[in-house]
Amino acid sequence: MFGRSVSLFKLFGFEIKVDISWLILAALVTWSLASGLFPEYYKHLPAASYWWMGATGAVGLFLSIIFHELSHSLMARRYGISMKGITLFIFGGVAEMEDDPPNSKAEFLTAIVGPLSSILIGIVLFLIKLWGEISGWPVTVTGVLSYLAWLNIVLAAFNLLPAFPLDGGRMLRSALWSWKKDLRWATNIAANVGSGLGLMLVIGGIVSIFMGNVIGGLWWFMIGLFVRSAAQRSYQQLLARNLFHPEKKMELNDFEKKDLRSEKS
Ligand SMILES: [Zn+2]
Repeated sequence: MFGRSVSLFKLFGFEIKVDISWLILAALVTWSLASGLFPEYYKHLPAASYWWMGATGAVGLFLSIIFHELSHSLMARRYGISMKGITLFIFGGVAEMEDDPPNSKAEFLTAIVGPLSSILIGIVLFLIKLWGEISGWPVTVTGVLSYLAWLNIVLAAFNLLPAFPLDGGRMLRSALWSWKKDLRWATNIAANVGSGLGLMLVIGGIVSIFMGNVIGGLWWFMIGLFVRSAAQRSYQQLLARNLFHPEKKMELNDFEKKDLRSEKS
């Protein structure tokens, strides 16, 4: 899935890139909105309206993910974590950090700011939709606003799953890290939980497919595979970084000692 990515534009100095797989997602989202979701909720509109709504919904999804990832990047920058950029791929976005966060507090804040931003934008979109309904805006506009409001809440909820490297998993790792002062141990536990949750999604997806929910089941199956492999890969990456940069590990240990000292005093 991580194939060629194309650079789109720069925002606050961060390069926004889109993986080729995102174009497939954009087409799938437009199609399923235009032929499934919108006709079901808003009946008797011209076919062209559904396609406009679908395309606007896909663009809105794109902007929602950028907003979410940008909030991570801005918080990471505050803590001096260097960022490569933001890449959008089929399951959403990735704010690519070049390094591990300097401490557990930085990790926690960098992780939680994403879901919080999504919830915030979901509430704002919902209020705009209500205002639009009161002011008599066309249903094509309020319908898309309503979809995007929900989408951002779902985005926040999914990312809050305690499955490393999702945001919830990063929050779990930061809590374990601050408890035992051992980044490697914390990453191992959080990645195992992530890998286990991924496996549950895969099994749930297979069960759904056999129960007749083929499309929904396939999505859960693929998301589960993705979460599982991302969890395993991120633990391997941490081990490799410590192997290739032994001085980095020393810094970490020094930091941990300092952390312990400040706690005793
Ligand atoms: Zn996130």
